Amino acid sequence: MSALPAVESTALSTPPPAWAPALIELGEAFFSRVTPQALQAPYWIDRNADLARELGLHKQWMESPEALLGLTGCAVLPGTDPLASVYSGHQFGHWAGQLGDGRALLLGQLPTPQGPVEIQLKGAGRTPYSRMGDGRAVLRSSIREYLCSEAMHGLGIPTTRALSLTGSPSPVLREEVETAAVVARTAPSFLRFGHFEHFCHSGQHELLRRLADHVIERFYPDCLQASQPYAALLEAVAQRTARLLAQWQAVGFCHGVMNTDNMSILGLTLDYGPFQFLDGFDPEHICNHSDSGGRYAYGRQPAVAHWNLFCLGQALMPLIGDKELALAALETYKTVFEAAMLAQYRAKLGLIDAPQQGDEALVDALMPLLAQGRVDHTLFWRRLCDFAQEPEPLRDLFIDRPAFDAWAQSYRQRCQSLDAQQQRLRMRLCNPRYVLRNHLGEQVIRAAKQGDFAPLHQLRSVLQSPYEDHPGQEALADFPPDWAASIEISCSS
Ligand code: AMP
Ligand code: MG
Repeated sequence: MSALPAVESTALSTPPPAWAPALIELGEAFFSRVTPQALQAPYWIDRNADLARELGLHKQWMESPEALLGLTGCAVLPGTDPLASVYSGHQFGHWAGQLGDGRALLLGQLPTPQGPVEIQLKGAGRTPYSRMGDGRAVLRSSIREYLCSEAMHGLGIPTTRALSLTGSPSPVLREEVETAAVVARTAPSFLRFGHFEHFCHSGQHELLRRLADHVIERFYPDCLQASQPYAALLEAVAQRTARLLAQWQAVGFCHGVMNTDNMSILGLTLDYGPFQFLDGFDPEHICNHSDSGGRYAYGRQPAVAHWNLFCLGQALMPLIGDKELALAALETYKTVFEAAMLAQYRAKLGLIDAPQQGDEALVDALMPLLAQGRVDHTLFWRRLCDFAQEPEPLRDLFIDRPAFDAWAQSYRQRCQSLDAQQQRLRMRLCNPRYVLRNHLGEQVIRAAKQGDFAPLHQLRSVLQSPYEDHPGQEALADFPPDWAASIEISCSS
């Protein structure tokens, strides 16, 4: 790795130390060098002090004009080498051909005790992969990405993270004229399933091998011990993806655009677009207004992830060679997902002892009850934590009370031998009080459009520790207002 000279980051004007990102080692076929396009009069909206600390970025530097210019793409930070990577993908079930970072620029990577972390700017201008797009991101969608990636991190769900959110009065045309914003986001790698698909489908199999070798060496070194490292890679990615999906489902997260170009090779939640946390529980819920067929409905996400892994498997076939091996690797997705899902629900139910025969049936009986009454997902699980002490608030969530009572009776029986206090404490650590509901995002966006960022700061801070009670912030944990049902979030961002 070609290390650029590290610089002392304490002085106000010095940039963070930057290292050439791994893509540069992979070769010119993987990216294009891009000069970011400056925005007018950039301003800070929020900075993520916790993440900055983890990245070793000095507080003073994070508050400097240089950081503001660098993290909005208005200036190229010394030591960085902005580039956009090329990838392809399947969108809504169809091969979409070449896509690529149309509005994301990789600045470089920073060393951390957990390994190098890449920094990417989203919305810093056009790239050779922008196609018809303008390379920009609007304020509302940038706020949603910024808040949600930190919310997911707070929930303990693997995700890309957000270091800063900046805005500019520069106009951006969507359905109407809006203003621009830039999220500086981080991840150990932004490689997607679509990167593999790109080099397979374009017949560049030596580059495909180089990419796979890089990912194995850097992120999945255990695969080197396997007799067939590329099949082992597919299996390892399938397993990480399975565990990610179990976490999404357990918290009621809908991604909205699970195209293969939005699937992280590291099993991270990636590319926040028309996502939503469920309000009322509905397996058929579609959060993306553009997804008329419901391909990415909440209840279909686990199957879609499996389908996407098939695309990855297909892309790895030139390296794996043996179809049976690839299929066997993909097959592990189902068993790992089911085990992870049951483990999630057992934890949410507070079954803190060893698994018992009837546990799965208890979960299976609950789901239709929740769906039938469109019971509020987050409130149900949080109120369940206190059910032994205060049963009425939970019962009040159901219209069909006798049906709930019947389920509750078998649940109480199952919990008889458990220490209620212990159980309650453990449940509160896996059933969040706060999630980024659509209407909360919407309220913050409305204020931000008026130049008031205080609600955003407050919400971000609460979402960073969603399992705690935040006295005074009860409204953020309440039912959605009626108008929440009419919020329409599309791919337009
Ligand atoms: P997404 O649906 O956001 O995952 O984007 C799909 C593809 O479109 C990716 O290649 C993006 O980089 C690209 N894209 C989305 N919006 C824009 C934009 N405003 N300008 C340029 N490219 C974009
Ligand atoms: Mg994308």
